[in-house]
Amino acid sequence: MAISDHVDFNTFMEGVKRRNPYQPEFVQAVQEVAEDIYAFIADKEEYHAQQILRRIAEPDRVVSFRVCWEDDAGHIRVQRGWRVQNNNAIGPYKGGIRFHPSVTESVLKFLAFEQTFKNALTGLPMGGGKGGSNFNPKGKSVREIMRFCQSFMTELYRHIGADVDVPAGDIGVGGREIGFMFGQYKRITNNFTGVLTGKGLEWGGSLIRTEATGYGAVYFLENMLATRADGVKGKVAVISGSGNVATHAAEKIVQLGGKVVTLSDSAGFIHDPDGITQDKIDWVKAHKTHRRGRIEDYCAAFPGTTFHAGKTPWGVPCDLALPCATQNELLGDDARTLVANGCIAVSEGANMPTDLDGVHVFKAARLLYAPGKASNAGGVAVSGLEMSQNSGRRAWSEAELQQMLKDIMAGIHKSCLTWGDQGGGYVDYVKGANIAGFKKVADAMLAFGVV
Ligand code: NDP
Repeated sequence: MAISDHVDFNTFMEGVKRRNPYQPEFVQAVQEVAEDIYAFIADKEEYHAQQILRRIAEPDRVVSFRVCWEDDAGHIRVQRGWRVQNNNAIGPYKGGIRFHPSVTESVLKFLAFEQTFKNALTGLPMGGGKGGSNFNPKGKSVREIMRFCQSFMTELYRHIGADVDVPAGDIGVGGREIGFMFGQYKRITNNFTGVLTGKGLEWGGSLIRTEATGYGAVYFLENMLATRADGVKGKVAVISGSGNVATHAAEKIVQLGGKVVTLSDSAGFIHDPDGITQDKIDWVKAHKTHRRGRIEDYCAAFPGTTFHAGKTPWGVPCDLALPCATQNELLGDDARTLVANGCIAVSEGANMPTDLDGVHVFKAARLLYAPGKASNAGGVAVSGLEMSQNSGRRAWSEAELQQMLKDIMAGIHKSCLTWGDQGGGYVDYVKGANIAGFKKVADAMLAFGVV
């Protein structure tokens, strides 16, 4: 069969849309990857003949289940849970668990699809998966969260395993929730095994896992800036989100001599023109994570700052932008505003925070623009190192892990250069990440035959 006989990009995307109705996030994620992969495989018959892209864009399986739990008032509540196992060509499925009311099968399928390429980019043997529930942890008591986590794991445990599928945290799932789920897994199976990552240090967790995604996104940014003999020092950064990824990205920017002027949550963003110092970041961590407070309260704690309800921070002039909250939080017009205001680099801490229009704007402006699957891979990379430590019954030191994280981020950057260097000083990091991630998974799939 000649290459020209295989389906073209538009026909391929029509098929993806037809097979995945009402799943816009998943279709968006596939399109962003397929735009680059179609050009890459234009002269590669085997990838076409073996339908590799079509197969990666069809999850190995999607498990959907009911999660019943009892609230403090004694009412029975019913939520929906999922685990999407997208692809295990290069290792056990690996990817976080998200608890948020916006979680749908489409959101988890897009995340598991992205995770497949991200995990390949780290160079570690991990396939792609993702899971979660439409459970809203906000306003719930600790005991309610515990009961929910236990019920969720009572179903999930039969689908995961240290060599099968290793979940971690994500939005709404931090160390506390991982603890509740690990406790239930251990109780049901009587197995103390590295089945989850993001564990506490006393029970198999790894140093720097908590910091790794945010720190990694800034290391990636430094690598991009270095291609223009530049660095973070002295730059003004705008960051969205105020959770795990956002606060650690802010911390690393400050450590490297940059100035962070915004953070946000789902209600709006705060602007602190004097800069969000380490003390203020510590306050945000305590307020958001431990007190489950609102970012808006920052303004009462730190006078001279402002809260902008219902808004995202992309209109604030900056050199660097780090979207670290959620998907599709930076739209085409936001991207145009950032470019017009002189922003030189964007490093995504969140997954798919920029919509397709925004991606095209950044590419056209030849910005230093890192897609999440490259720049936020530090978290899953240290999760991979946590798996290694669990399997080897050992623990690496913080200095060793910090170095490994830096090396992995530099390695991902190098892979992006290999496939994304367009000449004339411009690197298309989206293309670089997509092709590097795809090639590794695709070549493994070719080796396995039609399965
Ligand atoms: P957290 O739950 O710690 O924080 C999420 C932050 O994003 C909060 O500030 C939250 O605000 C905000 N947010 C969530 N949903 C929305 C929304 N719909 N609109 C506006 N703001 C929103 O999550 P993480 O920091 O762990 O995750 C943030 C992003 O990073 C996600 O895209 C995640 O997939 C990605 N990521 C995380 C990794 C990790 O290691 N944790 C690894 C790789 C990627 P509020 O408090 O109001 O809900």
